[in-house]
Amino acid sequence: MKIIFLDFDGVINSFGGDWQGGFEELDRKCIENLNILVERVSDIKIVISSTWRILRSLDKLKSIMAKWGFKYPELVIDKTPRLAGEERGREIFGWFTRNNKFPNPIIDNFIILDDDSDMEPFMNHLIQTDTDKGLTIEDVNKAVQFLNGE
Ligand SMILES: [Mg+2]
Repeated sequence: MKIIFLDFDGVINSFGGDWQGGFEELDRKCIENLNILVERVSDIKIVISSTWRILRSLDKLKSIMAKWGFKYPELVIDKTPRLAGEERGREIFGWFTRNNKFPNPIIDNFIILDDDSDMEPFMNHLIQTDTDKGLTIEDVNKAVQFLNGE
């Protein structure tokens, strides 16, 4: 299994271009790029690391993603734990340890899609997006290469 730790703001929405700042609004172009990403990697799952997870259930997050064009909400399996005062990378580490999943033989590889860079101890797994653009096809190509070990 491969995992994407997914941020929302600056990844599947974007702050440049046409974004109007609407509530629970995502960017369809970025979501389409996410569709392309998951279609190009086998046995892929998504864990939400965005702060959007804090006040929303997993089902709510999946329905928002589906509303804006994500075709594979069933691939979204979990959220990272909220660890007050910790950087996002530590929360991702917390997800692995909480699930006794690091290192874990069923997880072949993982990436972090985020426009921020507070991802220690996993900086080498970060694909950093541009906040104004969100997820681009160039980011997708990098992610697919990394996850598929190409
Ligand atoms: Mg962000």
